[in-house]
Amino acid sequence: MDLGTPTDSALRVVCPQCGHLEIDDLELLASDEVHALTCEVCACRFHLALFDCAHCGEETVFVRAAAPTPAEILAATCQHCGHPLHDDGPDVRPMGRA
Ligand SMILES: [Zn+2]
Ligand SMILES: [Zn+2]
Repeated sequence: MDLGTPTDSALRVVCPQCGHLEIDDLELLASDEVHALTCEVCACRFHLALFDCAHCGEETVFVRAAAPTPAEILAATCQHCGHPLHDDGPDVRPMGRA
C-alpha cells in the first residue's frame, strides 16, 4: 500500500454535488481568484477559490456549487485558524459573469 508522498503542492477539491475527491495541482490555480471547474464524475460545474491566510499562512480552499458572491468571498474564513480571510478589504474579483 502506498501511504502517499507529502502533497504540499496538491489541492484536494471535493465536488459539492457528488462528493468526488479530486486532486489538483495547486500550481495551476492562482490564489485569490475564483475558478470554474467541472467534476469529472458527475459533470457538474462548481467554483473554487483559493485564499492564503494572512494570519497563519495556510491555504484555504473555498468551494461553492454556484459562483460565490463577493459577499460570500468576503465572509470566508481560514479553514485552519478561523481568521477572516479578507479583513483588509476586498481584493478579489469573482470570475465569470458571462
Ligand atoms: Zn461531482
Ligand atoms: Zn489561518
